[in-house]
Amino acid sequence: FKPSQTAQAAAKPNRSKSEHVKTEIAQVVVDAKTGRTYCKGKLLGKGGFARCYEMTDLANNKMYAVKVIPQSRVSKPHQRGKIINEIELHKSLQHKHVVKFSHHFEDQDNIYIFLELCSRKSLAHIWKARHTLTDPEVRYYLKQIISALKYLHNKGILHRDLKLGNFFVNENMDLRLGDFGLAAKLETVEQRKKTICGTPNYLAPEVLNRQGHGTESDVWSLGCVMYTLLCGNPPFETLDLKETYKCIKEVRYSLPPSLTPSAQKLISAILQKNPSDRLTLDQILAHEYFTKGFTPEKLPPSSCVMVPELNP
Ligand code: ADP
Repeated sequence: FKPSQTAQAAAKPNRSKSEHVKTEIAQVVVDAKTGRTYCKGKLLGKGGFARCYEMTDLANNKMYAVKVIPQSRVSKPHQRGKIINEIELHKSLQHKHVVKFSHHFEDQDNIYIFLELCSRKSLAHIWKARHTLTDPEVRYYLKQIISALKYLHNKGILHRDLKLGNFFVNENMDLRLGDFGLAAKLETVEQRKKTICGTPNYLAPEVLNRQGHGTESDVWSLGCVMYTLLCGNPPFETLDLKETYKCIKEVRYSLPPSLTPSAQKLISAILQKNPSDRLTLDQILAHEYFTKGFTPEKLPPSSCVMVPELNP
């Protein structure tokens, strides 16, 4: 095999050269150090730097989700640094609700990051199909997210980009927190970088006000996630980004009366302007929304596309 020559490219001879550069990824990838050979499967999704493919280890048929980052996208040291930060940080994590990092290697064309395959994609996909989830489902997912987040925060790591698309769901309907592209070690208030990196989704007021990102800022994003799953739209969504930022800074959002009173109380206790007024992760778990409501042990896969029948 000649890894750099793709069947795809060969099959479409009349494509322009620039198109080739963008889409060219070999059907078979070889890790030169171990000699292991992987066969490329379907495209799972596209991200900022990477395309993510299903890949199978030909020695044992084990399947992975593989982030493929073209070397051309990380030619500048600061770009490469970001990917190396993500790899080193993710490598150090082991938790049942964090996407498992398997291994990585690179060849002339790409960097390959081998991750646990989450075949049901993410909460973003489930949300697209369902628009809103029921309280028991939201408790089911939030408990797993909080478990992963407590693990990270205890290790002094902030995720900094909690959003539906970063909560992956595996075949068994277990949630896995992933994408550590913006994650960073927790720093003291003085040391915190005051820049807003990337385009994180659910920015907290203190991050917008350039006071830096703390564990409380991850909690704020979690509140936005809870709101979105229950209400069907993000709490601070307007047609104009500047207007959205203004709403966030003033904590201007509305709670639909269709929400249960305990859901309303929990969301408003999380979406507090002052980080020190916000509930902590343990306080969230101790809230009546969790203690007085039923949480299923497991969700049926059908709940990815339709309202499940759940019996307490
Ligand atoms: P992003 O820039 O959106 O964070 P990623 O490179 O992390 O991009 O992922 C791109 C897409 O690949 C995601 O939107 C998702 O659909 C898919 N993906 C990423 N990781 C996994 C995984 N472990 N299992 C299944 N699909 C994944």
